[in-house]
Amino acid sequence: MDIEAFRKHGYKVVDQICDYYARLNELPVVAQVEPGYLVNDLPTEAPKEPEDFSLVASDFQSKILPGITHWSHPRFFAYFPAITNFESILADMMATSVSNPGFNWSCSPACTELEQVMLDWAAKLLGLQEKFWNSSKQGGGQITGAASESAIVATVAARERCLRMLSLQGAPEVDEKHGLSLNGQNDTSVKTDELGTRINDADGDVDDTIRDKYHSKLVMYGSTQTHSIGIKAAKILGLKWRSLPTFKRDDYALTGETVRKALEEDEKKGLIPFMLIGTIGTTSTGTVDRLSEIGQVLKNHPTVFLYIDAAWAGTALAVPEHREALQLDAVNEYADGICTNFHKWGLVAFDCSALWVRDRKVLTNALDVTPAFLRTKHGDTGLVVDYRNWSLSLGRRFRSLKLWFVLRSYGVEGFRAHIRKGVQMAAVLEKRIRESKDFELVTPRSLALLVFRLRPSSGDHTPEQLNELNRRLQELVHAEKDFNMTQTVLPGEEGQPSIDCLRFAMGGLRTTEEDAVQAWQIVERLGESIIN
Ligand code: PLP
Repeated sequence: MDIEAFRKHGYKVVDQICDYYARLNELPVVAQVEPGYLVNDLPTEAPKEPEDFSLVASDFQSKILPGITHWSHPRFFAYFPAITNFESILADMMATSVSNPGFNWSCSPACTELEQVMLDWAAKLLGLQEKFWNSSKQGGGQITGAASESAIVATVAARERCLRMLSLQGAPEVDEKHGLSLNGQNDTSVKTDELGTRINDADGDVDDTIRDKYHSKLVMYGSTQTHSIGIKAAKILGLKWRSLPTFKRDDYALTGETVRKALEEDEKKGLIPFMLIGTIGTTSTGTVDRLSEIGQVLKNHPTVFLYIDAAWAGTALAVPEHREALQLDAVNEYADGICTNFHKWGLVAFDCSALWVRDRKVLTNALDVTPAFLRTKHGDTGLVVDYRNWSLSLGRRFRSLKLWFVLRSYGVEGFRAHIRKGVQMAAVLEKRIRESKDFELVTPRSLALLVFRLRPSSGDHTPEQLNELNRRLQELVHAEKDFNMTQTVLPGEEGQPSIDCLRFAMGGLRTTEEDAVQAWQIVERLGESIIN
């Protein structure tokens, strides 16, 4: 395609995108296709001869769009929102126009430096203290593709940090937080091996005997409500995972006491706790773990890296009135790392997961591997950040551009207004659920998330019968085309069966109060049909 053809097709594609958004409200929210619809339709091989782009673009309309579930639809209430907007679309288009892998500063200085500045803007927006800012030169932030990836990065870093601590015990230099050595941190002279691979200061700090001796003893923790990212990180890295219990009476928050008991139990067995994932806004119910209590407990367990998964609720830290409930003070005081997805509620199109750490050295100690072919003058002098040394992959997408476009287009106040709107709409529905005679909230509303279930006011129902009714309701809800909602299962009180529920996740960019109420009225009608 030449420049003029791109101009012609580009304008047409923008027109198609505009038409899509103009009629989005009329489309079924959920794709109405059966498995294999596309696999059986497309040719089994790439075309031998070039095809005209007009044909390719029209196949997007006829073949792809029918298989799309519209996450930007005003009545999409499933999972959590995954918002896109025109600012993000334009930013992605421009980022792709200068596509490059951005792994070193020198690959394209703008990519690295914009990411550094944007993560500071975002940290300030959310109220994270200076220790997490890139400009502090101590901590810092980066963008990854997903909260799952951020969790793996954090786990690799936490493991390495713990092994270093075990290796360096008794050494004279101490770090402020843990009273443990950070030898070599300030040595900036460049050493290489015979193939020119730059020697990472940290490489000599943990020898293989320490790794062999301790790796199988390392344990990471989360709760029964931690997202699967925790278990997945442990599986990928061959580490032990322990899910700690949470209870309905605590609204499923992980408590300091539960953490204390588990750590003491495991340490007595000779295991080594090295990481704990606390959540701000669990996926099932939006619960916030008791981070202050947990932080206090961890003071006695310095090998434990406190990682906060705030994938969904983290962006609500932008709103000052929510900061106390979201325990921002505890994050600033105790967290070693925190992640939030701007690509959920945070107005930036997928993918844009922000990950901050209070000590960037934990990343580079674990992830800086610099063979001769990746070395640069600026990287060797330590004057620039080479983000590949903070990341799993070498190449990285230019994601900071969409964060920049969004934060400038909305401004801090526009961003806050968007979050407040989602919370306010959920409050309207919360009132309706509370007033309904046959439904109940299972946990208190968390920001824009409601977890509820059918509980008929007439007749006695055992917990098992209630679950059966709710599973039938879930089936009917899932069959609806005009809105989308997902389910979850929560632990029951001790000795009681688990609890089947539905989740109503508000916060979509185009959702109006009318959309939300309409969906709720359908759920009420479906509930009545089951009761009758
Ligand atoms: N953590 C929480 C609390 C989530 O709700 C989710 C997804 O909904 C994730 C992590 C995983 O996010 P990602 O898809 O970015 O890996």
